Amino acid sequence: MLWFCRGSILPLISEDPQQYLALQFDSGGALTDRNSNLMRVYADSRGDLSVYTELASHSPDLIAAILVAEDRNFYSHPGFDLPAIMRAAWQNLRSQRVVSGASTISQQLIRVIRPRPRNLTSKLQELLMALRLEQRYSKNQILEHYINTVSMFGNVRGIYLASHLLFGKSPDMLNLGESATLAAAVQAPGRFDPFTTRGNALLRRRRDWVLQQMLKNGKCDKSQYQNAVKLAIPKYRRKLPFNAPHFCDLTTATFGQPAGKKQTTLDLELQNFLYATTRAHLPRLMKSGAAQLAAIIADARTLEILAMTGSAEFGPVSGGFNNACIARRSGGSVLKPFLYALALESGYYPSFVLPDTMQTFKTPQGEYMPYNADRRSYGPVSIRTALGNSLNTAAIKMINMLGIKPFFSMLVDLELLQTKPGAADFFGLGLAIGNPEIRMLDLVKAYGVFRNGGILKSLKFFPGQAQQIKAVLSPQSAYLIYDILADHTARLFTFGNPSFYKSRRPVAIKTGTSTGYRDCWLVAVNAEFIFAIWVGNFNGAPTRGLSGATACGPIFKDVIDFLESYRNDSQIKAPSGIRRILVCSTSGQATTDYCPNSGYDLFSNLSHEPENCAFHRSSGETHELPSDYASWIKNRRKHIDHDPFSLSGNLSTGDPWQLRGLVPDIKVTEISSGPLLLKSEMPGPVYGGIKIISPHDGDRYVMSASHDNFALLRALPEGPVPEVIWLVNGREYIRTAPPYEAYWPLSPGSHRISAITDSQSAGEIEIFVER
Ligand SMILES: [Zn+2]
Repeated sequence: MLWFCRGSILPLISEDPQQYLALQFDSGGALTDRNSNLMRVYADSRGDLSVYTELASHSPDLIAAILVAEDRNFYSHPGFDLPAIMRAAWQNLRSQRVVSGASTISQQLIRVIRPRPRNLTSKLQELLMALRLEQRYSKNQILEHYINTVSMFGNVRGIYLASHLLFGKSPDMLNLGESATLAAAVQAPGRFDPFTTRGNALLRRRRDWVLQQMLKNGKCDKSQYQNAVKLAIPKYRRKLPFNAPHFCDLTTATFGQPAGKKQTTLDLELQNFLYATTRAHLPRLMKSGAAQLAAIIADARTLEILAMTGSAEFGPVSGGFNNACIARRSGGSVLKPFLYALALESGYYPSFVLPDTMQTFKTPQGEYMPYNADRRSYGPVSIRTALGNSLNTAAIKMINMLGIKPFFSMLVDLELLQTKPGAADFFGLGLAIGNPEIRMLDLVKAYGVFRNGGILKSLKFFPGQAQQIKAVLSPQSAYLIYDILADHTARLFTFGNPSFYKSRRPVAIKTGTSTGYRDCWLVAVNAEFIFAIWVGNFNGAPTRGLSGATACGPIFKDVIDFLESYRNDSQIKAPSGIRRILVCSTSGQATTDYCPNSGYDLFSNLSHEPENCAFHRSSGETHELPSDYASWIKNRRKHIDHDPFSLSGNLSTGDPWQLRGLVPDIKVTEISSGPLLLKSEMPGPVYGGIKIISPHDGDRYVMSASHDNFALLRALPEGPVPEVIWLVNGREYIRTAPPYEAYWPLSPGSHRISAITDSQSAGEIEIFVER
């Protein structure tokens, strides 16, 4: 006996029952939505499906039924049930075989945790461990472990999943008959397999016995009993829930497989709505050559992901397993709000006017001439109008003023792009109009800054997940961008006022379309939600003329109508430091007595004070623009007789080909096929108030055998002057009217080019030409 104790029992008793709790973490797992609806079940390391579920999530009928069936003195015995053992022994003796087990729930639990051959020694070990288990844990803890570890149908463990498999519901929703069915199956789930005819009949017989025992023990009344025994037991296994597949895959790929039941931030109601709504638009989009779409809805304040659909349909057809929410796609114009946010941080203000005029830029990659989506130029436009209408030429002017590197740094700060040596130069000015590839998930996070006072918050997949937070913009600039994007009058030029943008309360909207109509984007932010959608093709094939507005606008309408009725209780208020100032409607500068129209616009405490209007310095009929607008005005006059715009000082516009007698309407882009430009600097130094903006100081040209070899001369005087005189190597070459342009035929060697005005101000650069 002493040997027996030392050899077999002592090691067992010294085993700490604490580790039994670890079972919970060895169980499989499941992801649920924010309201505990099951979304996806994951197998444990042995391939068993189980989802650890707390005792309180099981119906009282179910608990009563299990106790009646398996251990009716559970709450009163110390771990073994002496009267039950004696009764079982008597029954077994009388029938000469084992008909009754009399193992308590604690003993059964030990058997599941430590399976052993069934003999007298193991029975004794189980009993001793059960006693120890009862000392350590409360009755409810033991019962909770038990109902989570019992083997049920097939590879399913625990009552929770068995309930989903047989009845398609969680165990807190089970009625009396269903509760008795599951309790009945616990004893021998293989024999009582409801999915076979014989098993189903056997299970029903045992269920009825459980119900009788419940009636006898006062756990139900006669009529409840009579209703319950009438119910048939389902013969077919149900599919376990499979919801929000892209979100679940992304969550497990990022955070690993869940242990036990893990609640996420997802909202299944919104998820199902988003999936059905986006799918309903697919036939319309497919007619225009777009086969895929993806969308995200996030909580605008907490950045919790509420719904995510990564493809038109999760599955093998047309790459449906792909998740476009995490794919890098060309962003088009969706980055522009951040460019203007940087401008506001630097002192510009929403009414600040930019010249939306065609201009060729020299870049390390060659000459670059951006144009607007509709190929039109809008002349003097405010930042508000330029952003609202998503004008490309104005955006390029803006980034040229702010610098590529500061904007690139901001996109890195916003975690939209990753920093890499030379990356800013690689994108060049095109960074302003969305050359880089971005992920929708990052875009949703970045747009959160406009809702949250410039604070960038990381996205949340789980409630209570730690969140990284950093200030990227001032609250004032964040609010001003939100105000511009929500201003439907600011998008009239290019988008008109389509009915699909109508909403009950303000929504900031930004669309984007990448080159060749490949990627169509829309991002929307209101006080409650951030919504992003992408339409395109996984293989990058272009759509047939779809744009962010035409592809995504109608989907936005369906979604915003639903969201506004779903939750709409907060609003975005202007932070302190925002003020309204009366400005000239054309120049955006402080209004004077001569300004024909004026209106209020918003300024922040970071904004420079607006200067007095320069377009209306005297009482006149026209708006007087600086010389940068000369070619824009010249183009307009081909189509209109009475132009309200004129050049400041009533100057006339000149023709850069005047000396050569060449055709004036030659397209600027063709000039870039002329001499090869080897090296280019940013605009050269300013001497005495006149700047030569083409060529650049230090430019090197190689003459081309197959093309005309001209260099474009272009000057920008500080104020309006009637003409600029060009000198090449000290000798007068030509006199130019605004826009002060001429073409000069290249000749080999080094050349000094000067631009002078009557007032003796001058600019000078040097270029080198190789044959
Ligand atoms: Zn004015």
